[in-house]
Amino acid sequence: MKRLAILGSTGSIGQSTLSIVEQFPDRYQVATLAAGRNVDEAFAQAVRWRPKLVSLSSEELAAQLCKRLNEAGISGTQVVYGSEGTVACSTHPEADFVVSAIVGVAGLEATHAAILAGKPVGLANKECMVAAGEILTAAARERNVPILPIDSEHNAVHQCMRVGDHKEVKFIWLTASGGPFRKTQLSEFAAITPEQALKHPTWVMGRRITIDSATMLNKGLEIIEACRLFNVPASQVRVTIHPQSTVHSLVEYVDGSILAQISMTDMRLPILYALAYPERPASNLTFDLAALRHLDFEEPDFERFPCLRLAYEAAERGGAHCIALNAADEVAVEAFLDRRIPFTEIAGTIGKVLASTPESHPATIAEVLASDREAREKAHALVA
Ligand code: MG
Repeated sequence: MKRLAILGSTGSIGQSTLSIVEQFPDRYQVATLAAGRNVDEAFAQAVRWRPKLVSLSSEELAAQLCKRLNEAGISGTQVVYGSEGTVACSTHPEADFVVSAIVGVAGLEATHAAILAGKPVGLANKECMVAAGEILTAAARERNVPILPIDSEHNAVHQCMRVGDHKEVKFIWLTASGGPFRKTQLSEFAAITPEQALKHPTWVMGRRITIDSATMLNKGLEIIEACRLFNVPASQVRVTIHPQSTVHSLVEYVDGSILAQISMTDMRLPILYALAYPERPASNLTFDLAALRHLDFEEPDFERFPCLRLAYEAAERGGAHCIALNAADEVAVEAFLDRRIPFTEIAGTIGKVLASTPESHPATIAEVLASDREAREKAHALVA
């Protein structure tokens, strides 16, 4: 029996994780839930799963949840709040496995604390690896703590890496759907509206990640994530446009063999893989091979998608540049969604923030967060 700490329990990965717990009651239990701002959902989850600990983002929300749990006659669930509350969830003595699915750098401290506490982590939060990958993987290696990627591409790579030796890997190939503007002319990019950018062809996701997919910055973050998770230089990570999103990623070995992972486009599969690793439990997530018609692969266009080039640059320089890439993008995407900057200025803003970022490699999470704040301030000034 694995007892789970779920960080980001009310988000889509959190809810999918709970549906896996529901499906495999003999394998998984809920120990703690870090729920953020959604009190209604946190209450429903606490009633259903009876965790030891629930964390909400603020003291006020925690008090609301406490009151509702009392009124419902539910005892045995402690309510905490803030970043300390999230850390309490991720390091709780009764948690054996931590699902890190809080969006943004908010989940960083708790994920780091979980690794320091020796708990295996299923990582769905790519910003953690981008901003602090060097720190997190060093801590994990030192303590021999597995970090299992839940991001579909990295999960696929993890699966393909199991059959070969690290030194035999030539390239990691991350697949990208190409987003809604795969065929859009460069001259039309400046006029792209938030409505157009929010339509993703294959995955239904949150707003920031959908825009990141349209600019391909999401793939850029994944390049950095792959470098850190699999300990390879950026030159060994390549991107291929695969509009069907059927192959979730590939690993090319030095002998010329390329291994690909194919499965349903459903996040429950990578979540189950991470939770059960190294086992593979039987599931009903069956892929219909007979329905498969085309697998197209093409080279990405760095001119129309400059965010990819910026991400390679950041990946090579590491440290503060990776932090700045992520932070500047978050600010720029928000400004684009508020119609304060055109689509093309998302990359423009990131490029300017990167250019003004001095070379540095934060050694602690506090330094990472300070560097993140600094980059955000620069980006805010640029989009104002
Ligand atoms: Mg992905």
